[in-house]
Amino acid sequence: MPHEIGEKICGRVEELAAISEDPAKLTRIFLTPEQRRASELVMSWMQAAAMATRLDAIGNVIGRYEGAWPGLPALVLGSHLDTVRDAGKYDGMLGVVTAIACVEALASEGMRLPFAIEVIGFADEEGVRFGTTMLGSRAVAGTFDPDCLGRRDADGFSMAEALRTFGLDPGGIAAAARRRTDILAYVELHIEQGPVLETLGLPVGFVTSISGANRVEVTITGEAGHAGTVPMAERKDALTAAAQCVLAVESRCRAEPDCVGTVGSLQVSPGAINVIPGQVRFSIDLRAAEDARRRRVTAQLLAEIAAVAADRKLRAESRVIHELAAAPCVPWLVAQVERAILAEGIAPFGLSSGAGHDGMAMMEIADIGMIFVRCARGISHHPDESVTVEDAEIGARVLLCFIKDFEPKGAL
Ligand SMILES: [Zn+2]
Repeated sequence: MPHEIGEKICGRVEELAAISEDPAKLTRIFLTPEQRRASELVMSWMQAAAMATRLDAIGNVIGRYEGAWPGLPALVLGSHLDTVRDAGKYDGMLGVVTAIACVEALASEGMRLPFAIEVIGFADEEGVRFGTTMLGSRAVAGTFDPDCLGRRDADGFSMAEALRTFGLDPGGIAAAARRRTDILAYVELHIEQGPVLETLGLPVGFVTSISGANRVEVTITGEAGHAGTVPMAERKDALTAAAQCVLAVESRCRAEPDCVGTVGSLQVSPGAINVIPGQVRFSIDLRAAEDARRRRVTAQLLAEIAAVAADRKLRAESRVIHELAAAPCVPWLVAQVERAILAEGIAPFGLSSGAGHDGMAMMEIADIGMIFVRCARGISHHPDESVTVEDAEIGARVLLCFIKDFEPKGAL
């Protein structure tokens, strides 16, 4: 079977990957000359697909393909065009390029639908430059925090200055917000960034929810002492207690469906080979597809940490420093994505996303749905990120089938 659309998509992904601040690796950051070049390239593809294009006030690229008559509410498709440092080629870009390929297919058939289609290439999702994520989709959703304009990058430029240098007006961001009545749904195709589809031998899957997250900071305080003289029974070793807590994170999260927990940072003090650790600080990153589960598991863990400390006569302080609600994909859209996958002869499989996506911001103004495409070994945010031409083709066929059969919520 020829993979004409898949070839085209992968070719364009390569073209975008060549636009980088560092020729040796892919790095494309918000409001840079590389973003400008990538935006112009994407707009040229959109125009070739019979779309009217514009940049909004935060730098999102927007292409609009009118429906049966101009001005109809739109099915919004898209993903992001910015990358992390030393990134893969597909994270974000695959969704934008695939959506354009679908519109191009409609345009070549001369097909107009009873709704408009908009493809958005969000200017910032990864948040590399200013340390705050989803700036592009937040502007569209009307939840952009104007205080962000004062944030500075590593070189001391404020976001407001960077926007002006790019030729954009920071005062116009509020006007980039879209009205709920203009958007029928937001659907994003994205690489999975995990190994589940590959393990199951499936090229695509539908997303049930984008997981919410808690970040917790824990400090366990015991008593430092001489490693040679304090008997084992009389120690107040903060690290052995912390080790028990780390294992508790693992076992609790393993026992729960759609829940992951990670201790990624741990500092031992005083941190000497011959001193019993007096204090340990560690982080917990806990994510779950359902908010109720995330809150319950977090509460159970905090109680368990307190019990471990009490048992060992140590002090434990836990602080939830970040909390982000899950973004469930809505059932009426999930059902239509499932139907499109089935129509392509693939068993529909639903999975949650442990990584954040623009849908988390877009859910403020629209119901959201997502399609995941298999990526090799689940590797992402890494130059080895890869998607086959065949899978890119299947992803595009599923998305096109979804678009053609799309029924807005009220029409069901
Ligand atoms: Zn992404």
